[in-house]
Amino acid sequence: MNRTTDWYETASTTADDYRLTETLNGVPSNAYLLTDGEARLVVDSAFGVGDLRETCGELAGDSARLLLTHTHWDHIGAGHQFDRAHVHPTESAAGEVRIDSLSEEFVGRPKRFVEEHLAAGGSLPDEVDSETFDVPPVTGVEPVEAGDVIELGDRRLELVDLAGHSPGQLGVLDRDRDRLYGGDLVHGDRNLYVHFRDCDIRRYIESFERVIELREANAFSTLLTGHNPPIADEDLSVLDTLRDHLESIVDGDRTPETIETAWGEKHRYRIGGTEILTKPSV
Ligand SMILES: [Zn+2]
Repeated sequence: MNRTTDWYETASTTADDYRLTETLNGVPSNAYLLTDGEARLVVDSAFGVGDLRETCGELAGDSARLLLTHTHWDHIGAGHQFDRAHVHPTESAAGEVRIDSLSEEFVGRPKRFVEEHLAAGGSLPDEVDSETFDVPPVTGVEPVEAGDVIELGDRRLELVDLAGHSPGQLGVLDRDRDRLYGGDLVHGDRNLYVHFRDCDIRRYIESFERVIELREANAFSTLLTGHNPPIADEDLSVLDTLRDHLESIVDGDRTPETIETAWGEKHRYRIGGTEILTKPSV
């Protein structure tokens, strides 16, 4: 298996744009390629098992520029392959994004994911050494903030504050194509991860409010996230539902289970088919 077309699952998301998915240990992680003529931007870089830059190049020509919605390891994996990386300043240090830029708690996750993937019968591209697989630092960091506009040819991409899941998470709003790239605003299977050290449940609720306002203003009709297929139209009511769930947790109306996870003791709330993980104290 090669590290490009064999490894990534590729789909069109809208005219000239693509979703590239790599699945490791049963978890899909999405990168997105946005193009306009000679201009290209990649949003998030998934696990980094594959050669994302080369795969994007085969689809649309060489892509040098990356935007990281946030810097959790499963979004920055192939980031080192790109020349420039836009990221919120709270999620980088000394001009780099590293696996531990936010917190030590992510160190060791890549190797563990690969080991579990192989133990479950999964395979890897031929060039990948499972013994040494890791997430290298991302350099060429260029700070960006909510409210900034990234120009991509004739396209205008607005950055939106989606803090909560991580402190500097940014969404990319493409009003012309009705798309919002939302990182992990909604996690895989529409669950919510609010249990890492830098998560902030109150800021998370504010981010949902902002996104619901944009949806009400018809700024977008499809939400593209890191670990889900597209969420569109009436399915976007999940935003209200999840906002309400977080509010009920903050208000003390829910009783959690205390569970042991790879990140230590956490609280788990199961509400109407959704699983929400939080820190023991919200
Ligand atoms: Zn994340």
